[in-house]
Amino acid sequence: MRSLNMRYRYSHFRYYADNIIRYIFFIFCCVVVIIIEMLVINKYLGKTPIAKDRSDKITKTHYSNVLEEAEYFPIPENLNTTGVTYSYIDSFGDPRTYGGDRQHQGIDIMDDSNTRGYFPIISVSKGEVENIGWIEKGGYRIGIRSESGYYYYYAHLSSYALDMEIGKQVVAGELLGFMGDTGYSEIEGTTGNFPVHLHFGICLKEDEWLNPYEILLELENRKLKTKY
Ligand SMILES: [Zn+2]
Repeated sequence: MRSLNMRYRYSHFRYYADNIIRYIFFIFCCVVVIIIEMLVINKYLGKTPIAKDRSDKITKTHYSNVLEEAEYFPIPENLNTTGVTYSYIDSFGDPRTYGGDRQHQGIDIMDDSNTRGYFPIISVSKGEVENIGWIEKGGYRIGIRSESGYYYYYAHLSSYALDMEIGKQVVAGELLGFMGDTGYSEIEGTTGNFPVHLHFGICLKEDEWLNPYEILLELENRKLKTKY
């Protein structure tokens, strides 16, 4: 009777032990399958499961595309030495509150002397004038669509070059207008709501903007030299 009881307990123990081993084996197999899937995705599809790395890769492609077609920094170098300088920092993504809470979608190149109309603004690439005229946030702005589809946006101008109009084909280095402080008002021509600067943006698609900071740093080496 005693040995029968022992045998019963032993078989019960075996039953549970087998089940635990089966569970552990099942979980182990799942982990192996997940690891293999991640490796295959990484190696053969060129995609990493981490979204940030993927978007960095896309950004790098855009940077090299833009640097291929962009020929000039948007402000030419002045061969007359006037001592007037400009400056900019990486303010892309910084909060902006005019017209609702939003993020800064470009880089502001500031006129350190705050002189409206001093710095000429030139087109960084060739392309077609897609937009020109007053808008509330951008003031007098101009948008150039390049051949490869990027939209170069220049805002807060004090004035335009005389022959600028929608549909005009511009060459790289062509004068678009002058740096100003127009905008932040529904009333056309409003100035003085902020210091004189160029807001420079590069749009990929509808409302998808690229941070142009690194591009501007690179374009510093490609300045148009002129006198003004
Ligand atoms: Zn800006």
